[in-house]
Amino acid sequence: MSTEKFDAIVVGAGPAGTAAALTMAKGGLSVALIERGETPGAKNVFGGVVYKWPLEEIIPKFWEKAPIERKIIDHRMVILGKDSGFSVSYKDDYLGMETRGGFTALRSKFDPWFAQQAEEAGATLVTSMPVSEVIEEGGRVVGIRAGRGKENELYAQAIVAADGVMSTVLQKAGIRGPPAPEDVAIGLKEVIELPSETIDSRFNLKRGYGARLDYLGSVARGKSGGGFVYTNSNTLSVGIAVLLSHLLELHCKPYEILDEFKSHPVVAPLLEGGRVKEYQAHLIPEGGLQSIPPLASRGVLAVGDAAMLCLYPEGTNMAMASGVMAGKTILESKKAGDFSIQRLMLYERLMKESYIFKEHSRKKNYHNILTSGDRFNTDYPDAITEIMRNILVVDGVDRGSKHAAARKVIRDKVGYVRVLRDLYRDIWSALPW
Ligand SMILES: Cc1cc2nc3c(=O)[nH]c(=O)nc-3n(C[C@H](O)[C@H](O)[C@H](O)COP(=O)(O)OP(=O)(O)OC[C@H]3O[C@@H](n4cnc5c(N)ncnc54)[C@H](O)[C@@H]3O)c2cc1C
Repeated sequence: MSTEKFDAIVVGAGPAGTAAALTMAKGGLSVALIERGETPGAKNVFGGVVYKWPLEEIIPKFWEKAPIERKIIDHRMVILGKDSGFSVSYKDDYLGMETRGGFTALRSKFDPWFAQQAEEAGATLVTSMPVSEVIEEGGRVVGIRAGRGKENELYAQAIVAADGVMSTVLQKAGIRGPPAPEDVAIGLKEVIELPSETIDSRFNLKRGYGARLDYLGSVARGKSGGGFVYTNSNTLSVGIAVLLSHLLELHCKPYEILDEFKSHPVVAPLLEGGRVKEYQAHLIPEGGLQSIPPLASRGVLAVGDAAMLCLYPEGTNMAMASGVMAGKTILESKKAGDFSIQRLMLYERLMKESYIFKEHSRKKNYHNILTSGDRFNTDYPDAITEIMRNILVVDGVDRGSKHAAARKVIRDKVGYVRVLRDLYRDIWSALPW
C-alpha cells in the first residue's frame, strides 16, 4: 500500500476534473488527477460539441492546438414527425471564426490532449486507478482509496468529485445517492465513417466546417428523447438519448430506439453508405436544478456531471466552468491557509452567481417537458406534421381555409390554452438558444 499527500485530489479526468486540476496546477498547488480509464477519455462518451466558453479562458487560442474535428457553423433543430421533419436552421461562417459556434470533437482524442495540458502545468495524472472508497476523519473526507489489486491511499486538503454522473466519491461520502431514473437519460452513440468529401457535399459544408443537427419529437416511441447527428472530419457522431424512466416503461432495448432513429426517412439519407466504427453508451444527467446536490460539503467539491450540472445540450462547458471555480476556490483556501468547510463554501457562492446557475434557473421547467408525457413527443410533432402537409400542398384549396384547418388541428390535438401555457411556461424556458 502506498500513501501520499497532496493539496488537492481530483477524481476523474473528464472535462470537469481536468479543468479543476489545470487551474490548481497553474496556481502552483500539488494536485493528483486520478482516472480509472487506461487513458483519459478511454471510457468517456458525448455527442460531440465542445464550446468556446469557458475553454478559451483556460487555454487561450485552444483551437490552434486542440484535436478539433470541425468548426460548427450550421445549427439545425429538427422536429421529427412519424415520417417527416420540420427544421429551424441557422448557418453563418462567423460562427466558424475562432470556433465561436463550438466545435465537434471525439473524446478519445480530446480528453487525453486536455489532460496533457494539466500534466504540463504540473498536475500528477494517474490512470488505470479507479477510486473505490473515501477516507473520513472528524466528519470530513480527507482522502481516497484507489487502485486495482494494490490499494493506494491518497490524502489531500480538499477533494474534487469529478467522477461523472454515477460519482463514487459523492455516493461513498454520503453526499448524494444514485440518480433517480427520471433524472438521467441513457445516451447511445455510434461513430459512422464516411469520406470527408461526402460529408462536405451531403451537409453542404466547406472544408473544416461542420453542422450539428439536433432532433426532437418522434424519436423514442412517443417518450422523452432526442437524437443527434454531428459532423466530424471523416465520421458522423449519431445518437439518441432517452429518459431512463421512460425507457423502462417502453420495455425495449435502447439500441432498438437508435436503429429506429437511424432509419427514420429524414435521417437515413444522411447516413447512407456509412460504416459503423464505434458504439458507445453512457448516462446523461437530466434532472435540472432540483437534482443538483450540495456543491461543497464535508471537504468535497462536486463538479460537472457528478454535480448533475449537464443541461441539454450543454454539458462539457458546465463541467469545465465548475471545475475552474472549484480550482479557484481551493487556490484561495491555500493562499489563506484555511481549508475549513466554511472557506470551501466560496465554491457554492461562485457557482450561484455563474452562467451555470443562471441557465439552470432559466430552464427550471425543462424537466417538466421531459416527464410530462406525450404532449411534447407526440401531440405537437403530429400537429406540426398535419399542418405543414396541408399547407404546403397546392391543391386548389385557398390558404385562408387551410389556416382555419390548422387552427382546428391545434384546438383538437392540444387546445389553445394548453399551447399558450406550454409556450410561456415550458417551451420558451427550455429552448436551447
Ligand atoms: C450521448 C451523449 C451526448 C452528449 N453530447 C454532448 C454535447 O454534444 N456537448 C456537451 O457539451 N455535452 C454533451 N454531453 C454531456 C457531456 O458529455 C457531459 O456533461 C460531460 O462529459 C461531463 O464532464 P465530467 O468531466 O463532469 O464527466 P465525465 O465526462 O463523465 O468524466 C468523468 C471521468 O471520471 C472518471 N471516473 C469515473 N468514476 C471514477 C472512479 N471511481 N475513479 C476514477 N475515475 C473515475 C471517468 O472515467 C471519466 O474520465 C453528452 C453526453 C452523452 C452521454
